[in-house]
Amino acid sequence: MRDIERQTLTRAPTLIARKCGCGDWAGFGFTKGDRDDWWCWKHYPYKTSARLEAAEIAATLDSRAA
Ligand SMILES: [Zn+2]
Repeated sequence: MRDIERQTLTRAPTLIARKCGCGDWAGFGFTKGDRDDWWCWKHYPYKTSARLEAAEIAATLDSRAA
């Protein structure tokens, strides 16, 4: 195994700023067809306990980075 032969990442991952209807940055949602539906956590309609937990972790990381 030689790391030197590994293909390098030539393009940055696509980052699109999405907004919820309330104007907050929307980190939760999905894309279907040509339509994007995105919400901030407060308005995300598909919350589950597992997602709630993940969101709390993400919020903690976000507040640390800010
Ligand atoms: Zn919102």
